[in-house]
Amino acid sequence: MGEFDLIRRHFQHALHPPGVALHNGDDCALLAPAPGMRLAVSTDMLVEGRHFLSTVSPEALGHKALAVNLSDLAAMGAEPLAFTLALSLPRADDAWLAAFAKGLLALADTHGCALVGGDTTAGPLNICITVFGQVPEHQALRRSAAQVGDDIYVSGCLGDARLALEVFRGTPGVCGLVSAEAFAAARLRMERPTPRLALGMALRGLAHAAADVSDGLLGDLGHILTASGLGAVLHPDELLNNIATNPILSSDRGHFGYEYCLTGGDDYELVFTAPPSARAAVQQAASASHTPVIRIGHTVAQLGLTLLTASGQVLPQRWASFDHFA
Ligand code: ADP
Ligand code: MG
Repeated sequence: MGEFDLIRRHFQHALHPPGVALHNGDDCALLAPAPGMRLAVSTDMLVEGRHFLSTVSPEALGHKALAVNLSDLAAMGAEPLAFTLALSLPRADDAWLAAFAKGLLALADTHGCALVGGDTTAGPLNICITVFGQVPEHQALRRSAAQVGDDIYVSGCLGDARLALEVFRGTPGVCGLVSAEAFAAARLRMERPTPRLALGMALRGLAHAAADVSDGLLGDLGHILTASGLGAVLHPDELLNNIATNPILSSDRGHFGYEYCLTGGDDYELVFTAPPSARAAVQQAASASHTPVIRIGHTVAQLGLTLLTASGQVLPQRWASFDHFA
């Protein structure tokens, strides 16, 4: 199978949304954002051994490669239009490519996001996707727009992806505690994350600032706080008491429960801030988008992050979030 056969066979997407004027096959694709909308653009790369384990199924990998990119659009309040796929493959394995494309294009169809181009080359397995979305300029959820006294929220639940990773790593003290059921739930969240697009769009004009939780809550919230020149007080027990949180994490408060919820990466939830006057509207946005959100703290003028437990204890900040070059 040659390069062009491969592209025709696996990466010819039948989806033709109005925001795409010309698909792949030419030198460029042409996008047509709606009048008054700004293009939102983001790229994320997945490298074998770094972002995914070699044991992951190609279908899950196709899903995740696009999901992590769509998550960035969600964090901006943008609606997906299209994406490009740059793929480096050790070999042209037809069965692998069919499964990868199935996972990838199923998620693309769900969100009306058309595959409009890319590049395909031989080399170590590496997947790089660029997504294009649209958002009204003044409603984009920027990291720098949080204000003093804002509530801080997080969607869904945190810590599952990290829990699954530690089980795969065979981390002592974790493996023995995790039932097959709890592991399966955590693994599903790690391998098939849900980009929170409907919530992101529902928060337009409501939330002040947002980011997606890819590297861990403390780090990603930290980006918002740094960009906005603010500090925050957080109540980590709100994360552990959340009914959606994996019970293994809620029941292990002192040990890894706090750590995985606060710093575990790869969850692709949204962390966002909104003024207290918007509490009812935020809950309405959450239910309209079928995405639960919980309030976990508030911003303060003084820089720095205070982690306050339900019993009034201040947790030490020994946890850093993930950094590829640290
Ligand atoms: P160029 O010579 O301009 O680099 P290519 O020969 O790499 O173009 O690709 C030919 C066409 O196939 C282009 O329209 C490109 O966008 C598309 N394409 C290449 N790889 C992929 C891919 N993995 N998925 C979707 N489209 C692809
Ligand atoms: Mg090319």
